[in-house]
Amino acid sequence: MPVLHPMAQADALMPRYATRFQCIGTRCEDNCCTGWRVHVDRKTYGAYRASAHPPLAGRFAEGVRRQRSGGSPEQYATIELRAGSRECVFLEERLCSIQRELGADKLSNTCAEYPRIARRTAQGIEQSLTLSCPEAARLALLADDALDFVGHRIDYRRDSMPHWAPRPGWSPAQIELVRVFCLQLMQTRELQVWERLAVLGLLCERLQGLEHEGRGAGAAALVEEFTALVAEGGVSALLADLQPFHEIQAQALFGLWLSRGRATGSEHQEEVRRAVLRGLGAEASTDGGQESLSADVVVAHYVQGLRRLPEALAQAPSLMTNYLLNDMFREAFPFADGAPFAQYQRLLVRFGMVRLLLVARCNAAGAGLPSAQDLAATVQVFCRRHQHDPSFARALDQVLANAGWDRLDRLWRFLKT
Ligand code: SF4
Repeated sequence: MPVLHPMAQADALMPRYATRFQCIGTRCEDNCCTGWRVHVDRKTYGAYRASAHPPLAGRFAEGVRRQRSGGSPEQYATIELRAGSRECVFLEERLCSIQRELGADKLSNTCAEYPRIARRTAQGIEQSLTLSCPEAARLALLADDALDFVGHRIDYRRDSMPHWAPRPGWSPAQIELVRVFCLQLMQTRELQVWERLAVLGLLCERLQGLEHEGRGAGAAALVEEFTALVAEGGVSALLADLQPFHEIQAQALFGLWLSRGRATGSEHQEEVRRAVLRGLGAEASTDGGQESLSADVVVAHYVQGLRRLPEALAQAPSLMTNYLLNDMFREAFPFADGAPFAQYQRLLVRFGMVRLLLVARCNAAGAGLPSAQDLAATVQVFCRRHQHDPSFARALDQVLANAGWDRLDRLWRFLKT
């Protein structure tokens, strides 16, 4: 049988943890074949329709549906889920029957590549992993050297490597300079994580100004100015008089989690969801009804849990930094979709949600502390929801704007704890 998706090899830039990744298969607590609809690319869809394989041909006809609206060559069709368990219809005893019967080259691009995300840029190939995979999340969040960037040889599908087109007005060298500075800023240990993010916001605001004026050439001077600001210790003075606004940190985000944080047939996700509700003063509804909670109770629990968060994070000191670095590298921050400041706002609200969920886990652990594994699982469950539920992601992106909290001076108060 001819190879459907031929492979190639290349050197890629990636975080060190990605070189350590191996799918743990049947031992996985939140299998990626459950709870979210998998896209099938056009080439694979054609092969499934043409398949004469006795047991699978009929199942392809029933279980793989053309995407009639909003489709694209990569998202040409979707695989159905079983009613009730919400497992992929091709999953058998937690193993993929397509891979078993036809081989890995007959998997759709999504199935073959998950959780890897690769792209070709002007500088070469980059690869990272989405932390919606529990094993990827553990590797990325719990090791101090996980987000060191290294060169590594990878195998990839020749016909599915996306080319990343840089934003108009910026040369590849200017993009590289800004991206590297942003990643380095996020690793500045002399600053607290929220302070690094505050400086990043100021930088993105200025980058947006350059972009409006079509002056990408101004990037070098801007990076120099911000390097000096950090090196000369000017950041703490800049942020010294800020007052934290715990209400906005807790209320708006928890409202969203409460209304859209429901698990999708996964016991693991449901366990995390219940722990978060408990930790913010709510009991999960056992009959599928809507949980509700007063804003004062949520804020009081949030403030109490915030005091315990540093002690919990001492077990995984790089967790927050690594989460942010991974997101920024994965998204080619701040040059992906949207203007730099809009991307910054989206990064910030994800950070705020992760912080809220971790704070809730601290409370839910009672007199003890959540383990490092619990903290990683909480981030993973959030990533699963955010990256595989577009309506949740859209609502989260809008949460601060809807509350009128999208100006930098306000965002800094959202950041400060
Ligand atoms: S979620 Fe990750 S570890 Fe689990 S089955 Fe999928 S790729 Fe493997």
